[in-house]
Amino acid sequence: MNAETLISNYTEEHIIDRGEMLEILALSDDKLPQLVAAAEKLRRKYKGNKIHIQLLTNARSGNCSQDCAYCAQSCRSTAEIEKYSRVSDERLYWDDEIVRGNGLARHCIGLSGIRFSDEEIADLADRIRVMKKNGTHICCSIGFLTEKQARMLRDAGLDRINHNLNSGREFYPKICSTHTYEQRLENLRMLKEVGFELCCGGIIGMGETDSDIADMLTDVRGISPESVPINFLLHIKGTRLGENTPPRLTAEKCLKVLCLARLMLPKADIRCAAGREVYFKGREDLLFRVVDSIFAEGYLTESGQGIKDTIALIEGLGYDASIDGTEEKN
Ligand code: SF4
Repeated sequence: MNAETLISNYTEEHIIDRGEMLEILALSDDKLPQLVAAAEKLRRKYKGNKIHIQLLTNARSGNCSQDCAYCAQSCRSTAEIEKYSRVSDERLYWDDEIVRGNGLARHCIGLSGIRFSDEEIADLADRIRVMKKNGTHICCSIGFLTEKQARMLRDAGLDRINHNLNSGREFYPKICSTHTYEQRLENLRMLKEVGFELCCGGIIGMGETDSDIADMLTDVRGISPESVPINFLLHIKGTRLGENTPPRLTAEKCLKVLCLARLMLPKADIRCAAGREVYFKGREDLLFRVVDSIFAEGYLTESGQGIKDTIALIEGLGYDASIDGTEEKN
């Protein structure tokens, strides 16, 4: 089916095939209103009027052994970032209090690196237990866990794990040489078996083709995560992609990717993660018709819009930013 026919008659029973994905990604910008309208129907059906806000605490920062081309924490990055191996209890629990106090959807905890000792995971599990006493929904963005470590975190009450595919299988070796796409998939399979909710998406704007984006979204659909974060590359000076800058994205292109993600995974949280403040500044009315989830603060090494301003923005556009803490299990 061609993209125009598809979006004007779209029903969620239709499994979008690869050809249709490519047509949607290449749709002319003047057809964007129809595409947004098709995505918005599903966003309204499954997410109502809510915009879920996440706060991210970087619990371990920098000094990573991996060479991910976009990342300021990688072993090849010369970006000037704060480096530490364990964020203080004071900072972590303060952030958790902000999440609870502002009725945010979730506290995300990021850790640089790809492998962890059992002692480090036991320490993280203890901290999760403390925060779970307050009822916060917690998601950890973490590298490769052993099954034993995954169970330690699950038993501590961790709700969700973020592990992104980042790009398509073929493109992946161009952005990372120290681990493989297949290792990421295997890790996700194990986490699902252990019983975690999953958060899995990628990064757009690294020089990949539409075909790579379609490959990535096809695999994400196969994983069926509860949440799909789509990041738009932040050109961080000192990173490989910050130096060797790929062409900048347009808001229209970003929106097409988000619409496609919504059509392919209608029930998932579709999150506009990094890049929101760059590509959608002043155009959030359009963005919120498609996504139901954003970050307010903390893109690991980059800051964000801030909690108060983000809530004011959401409410000013007529959406509901508050979460009662009971509706989040989806
Ligand atoms: S994305 Fe993760 S694994 Fe890759 S360099 Fe950054 S911290 Fe390390």
